[in-house]
Amino acid sequence: MPQTNQTLVQSHAPAPSHAPAQPERPEADRPLKPALLRGWRRKCPHCGTGPLLKGYLKVHSDCAVCGEDFTPQRADDGPAYLTILVVGHVMIPLLHIAFVFYRPEPLTLFTIFALGTTALTLYLLPRMKGAVIGFQWARRMHGFDRPM
Ligand SMILES: [Zn+2]
Repeated sequence: MPQTNQTLVQSHAPAPSHAPAQPERPEADRPLKPALLRGWRRKCPHCGTGPLLKGYLKVHSDCAVCGEDFTPQRADDGPAYLTILVVGHVMIPLLHIAFVFYRPEPLTLFTIFALGTTALTLYLLPRMKGAVIGFQWARRMHGFDRPM
């Protein structure tokens, strides 16, 4: 017996679920990539305009623009760990290449790499901290899931 389009559609329809419906969370998951980029720019992960950090690494208590509470952030040692990870993986191969191919004077090599490592670390650390806070905000970690 030939099947009509109507019976084909019905035969592929998903079976009705008898599981209890999950209660909807008050807000959907927050997008991760914009939150990471806003944090990298040291801006509020929620609105992207208010400053996240005051001074070099101190975090504002809340956003001056949208009022997002920053006190639930727990960046702790994460930004320092990530900064060391990146700086090490960039500078150590460069040091090897510079030594093997150019063999500069030891004091010249030390001066260049000491300054380069320090500059890269100081550049990355606050940006990593902002990105870690943006990650925590997007994933609603710690107290970031509280309604405003
Ligand atoms: Zn904000």
